[in-house]
Amino acid sequence: MKKIGIDLDNVVFDVQQEMIDIYNETHNPKITKKTWNKYYLRDVTGILLEEETQIFKIMDARGRFKNMNLLPHAKDCLTELSREYNIIPVTSRHKELTAKETLFCLKKNQIPFYKIVFEPDKQKIARQYGFAWFVEDHLDFAEQISKVCPCYLFDYPYNRNGNSNKPDNGIIRVPGFDKEDWWLNLLAMVEKNSVKQ
Ligand SMILES: [Mg+2]
Repeated sequence: MKKIGIDLDNVVFDVQQEMIDIYNETHNPKITKKTWNKYYLRDVTGILLEEETQIFKIMDARGRFKNMNLLPHAKDCLTELSREYNIIPVTSRHKELTAKETLFCLKKNQIPFYKIVFEPDKQKIARQYGFAWFVEDHLDFAEQISKVCPCYLFDYPYNRNGNSNKPDNGIIRVPGFDKEDWWLNLLAMVEKNSVKQ
């Protein structure tokens, strides 16, 4: 079976909403997914790195890593894809700090996966596993991965950066931000691309 790589945060798990909820408890002006227009929260809001780290600690203390909401359609579409591919989540989450919670949450939600890799160098993993394709939300990672295999990128305001004007460099942008229906669009795009091959 062919293998595919999938990012977890903001692709499978809605970590962005978790961060927004905690940030908005103590800050004004409040932020929303629409106003979050750079990758790192600290770059959007001007908070310090330590304060951003503190948000993750609060999430952890509240057990949110074990109970994180999935993005719409993620489960159904991954279940569908698992009939054709071995699904390998590749996450830059810190293994020692989050592995137990991440696995718990994947299993609790019955997300099918073949194995999981905790590694920030996703290009290396894509090469090592020979992925048929990858799905990401981080533009820099997607650009690196796309040198090895086709990389789908879920469209968010924080990863636009004028990329839509760049020539096709292996990144395939998946629309869906307004309705949060990237997964449905991804599935349709994958089917279309596999017919072309
Ligand atoms: Mg991500």
